[in-house]
Amino acid sequence: MEFAYSKRHAELRQRATELVKQLSSYEDECEWNGSLSPESRQSVRAIALDSGLASMNAPVELGGAGLSWLEQVVVEEELGKLTNGLWAAVWRPTAALLLASTPEQRERYLVPEIRGARFGGRAVTEPTAGSDPRQIATTAVRTGGGYRISGEKWFVTLGDIADYFVLLAVVQPDNAPTMFLVDKNLPGVECVEVPRYTHQFAFAHPHFRFTDVEVGADAVLGTVGGGLQLSQATFFEERVLVAAHAVGAAERALTLASDWARQRVQGGDRIIRHQLIQAMLADSAIELALNRTFVHQVAWDIDRGHDLKTLNAKVAMAKVSATESAGRIADRAVQIFGGRGYIRDNPVERVYRDVRVDRIWMGTSEVQRLVIANEIDKRGISGLVHFAEQGGS
Ligand SMILES: Cc1cc2nc3c(=O)[nH]c(=O)nc-3n(C[C@H](O)[C@H](O)[C@H](O)COP(=O)(O)OP(=O)(O)OC[C@H]3O[C@@H](n4cnc5c(N)ncnc54)[C@H](O)[C@@H]3O)c2cc1C
Repeated sequence: MEFAYSKRHAELRQRATELVKQLSSYEDECEWNGSLSPESRQSVRAIALDSGLASMNAPVELGGAGLSWLEQVVVEEELGKLTNGLWAAVWRPTAALLLASTPEQRERYLVPEIRGARFGGRAVTEPTAGSDPRQIATTAVRTGGGYRISGEKWFVTLGDIADYFVLLAVVQPDNAPTMFLVDKNLPGVECVEVPRYTHQFAFAHPHFRFTDVEVGADAVLGTVGGGLQLSQATFFEERVLVAAHAVGAAERALTLASDWARQRVQGGDRIIRHQLIQAMLADSAIELALNRTFVHQVAWDIDRGHDLKTLNAKVAMAKVSATESAGRIADRAVQIFGGRGYIRDNPVERVYRDVRVDRIWMGTSEVQRLVIANEIDKRGISGLVHFAEQGGS
């Protein structure tokens, strides 16, 4: 066993740190204006492209960075230190596309996306289908040459800059859940609302309505009826990144809070000498170190191709643990700053708001606990709490 960064990991981490430094200069603009100006968007896009870390999940032969899961986690942790959703400027193609696209779909959507010329918003959630995507009501009715899609999709992250959607609909008459690639400029696609959220995000999460949107048969991503599996595969990947991301956010909050505690004097001493503050810092350091280790271990397991069902539950464990811990660590950081922690200028206040959604999107904490408990029911705890043996399963 080795618990150290290789040269390659250290170099990637350094590059990610540099990238975070550049992108963080846009945090204030985003906080005060609720988003970025078109000029700033151009700039952050250029910064992300220059870093070579955009599309880090995509194969090198298609123009991506081709990083392993462990390498992606190393980078994503650093990106997690950014507030205001600026990490989202470092885009990656939708995993479902990577998995299931035809050569033509790859040329039309994926390759331009890797170069930063296109972007696909993931459109799964609906007013009546959130945690349970089997309730999807968006329909795709067969026409002569393809499908006619109607329905409503909520919370489409980066839907403001997306120029197409990876959309889950049920093909009629069999109600077969199926993923479609739907261009945003097609007649019948309309943005119906851009809600405001707890966080101030560099991009938006709008709601869209699709009314009799005509697409060709070649818009089906994967197979008719295979949409839920594709959607799950996408969630699996995104959960790993959310977990890594939460570790980075927690580290930023704890770093700021501990630096403050070491200098702030109250009650005749630096506040870090007060035991109640010490307990908060110690608890946070324990949680942060444990979550960092576990998230890396899960990524390492994925790279080695371990059993997918066990991995699915381990990824759920990582997401629940890292995101809930980030919430506690950010909360303690605000407390350690006192009134200064409640001012929006202070990044810990932003981290506090930003990490809240990590317990909701990509599968809520409750649903992740169900995944973990189902795995325990089916195969016991061993695969979840032990290391795998060398060589994979
Ligand atoms: C900022 C933001 C961005 C998002 N981006 C996207 C996106 O890009 N694309 C997309 O498709 N979606 C996106 N989502 C949607 C997100 O994935 C859903 O909000 C999430 O899956 C939960 O669904 P819901 O909101 O409908 O809550 P519900 O499913 O209605 O859940 C409500 C509550 O009930 C609990 N619950 C539900 N089922 C069970 C159960 N079986 N057992 C126990 N408890 C249960 C949940 O955990 C939750 O606490 C985004 C959401 C937000 C807030």
